[in-house]
Amino acid sequence: MNFPDPGLLSINTATVRAQWTLPEAISALARHGIRGISPWRDQVAKSGAKTAAQQIRDAGLTVTGLCRAGMFPAPDRNGRRAALDDNRRAVDEAAMLGAQCLVVIGGGLPKDARGAIVSKDLAGAREMVRDGIGELLDYARGAGVPLAIEPLHPMYAADRACVNTLAQANDLCDELAPNGREGLGIAVDVYHVWWDPHLKAQIERAGAHDRLYAYHICDWLVPTVDLLNDRGMMGDGVIDLRLIRSWMEAAGYRGMHEVEIFSANNWWKRDGDEVLITCKLRHEQAS
Ligand code: ZN
Repeated sequence: MNFPDPGLLSINTATVRAQWTLPEAISALARHGIRGISPWRDQVAKSGAKTAAQQIRDAGLTVTGLCRAGMFPAPDRNGRRAALDDNRRAVDEAAMLGAQCLVVIGGGLPKDARGAIVSKDLAGAREMVRDGIGELLDYARGAGVPLAIEPLHPMYAADRACVNTLAQANDLCDELAPNGREGLGIAVDVYHVWWDPHLKAQIERAGAHDRLYAYHICDWLVPTVDLLNDRGMMGDGVIDLRLIRSWMEAAGYRGMHEVEIFSANNWWKRDGDEVLITCKLRHEQAS
């Protein structure tokens, strides 16, 4: 059996966001000998991007991604402009952190200022996502920040992301960065794509164009009691993580394995050190 290299473990800080601030998470990762981190922008903002970057560098951590940019669709030009401005700031932060990629989720149907969905035009929303990524890509290339499109499970199509499959993400890359290696790629998060009958073929397709920028792991619990905050620890659910990793590796992925677990009723309630110890163990034994 092919076990993963323990040195490839990275922790998405959402996994311990209830327990620790970003500086606390950084020192905890160093304490546990974990080499990779993927922080969220709200956490980075609390520390200040410059300070966060320095702390992460001092701890010797690789930044496997910054979460996240996107949310492009809006009902009017001003809304779309505001989203793009915010996304440019995300690029600047990713550059400062030396992130391997900036994770981009598309956004769902257009919302008004209060967050209410104001359109049922899903195809139109997908066009806004394509146009938004295209515009952001120019800026990100200038800053040397690779953008990683993360398709989200279709249950989020209305409110978070209308890019829902790897095929869609690959199509976007084909359209916006047709020659590969152009700073636009894909983040494969098993929680979102494990069910996809075309998963293996689409991982191969992404790999053939050097588009596999990030790999996020957790597990799918049965039953899942919350659409957002009930992700499982590797080994506690039904995803064949070893099989999917083998597909990623066969497609040329050599990056880290980022554990990303939102878990309001379980892991967020436990001691942070226990969570990290379990992540290390399950990464080795169950992923
Ligand atoms: Zn993810």
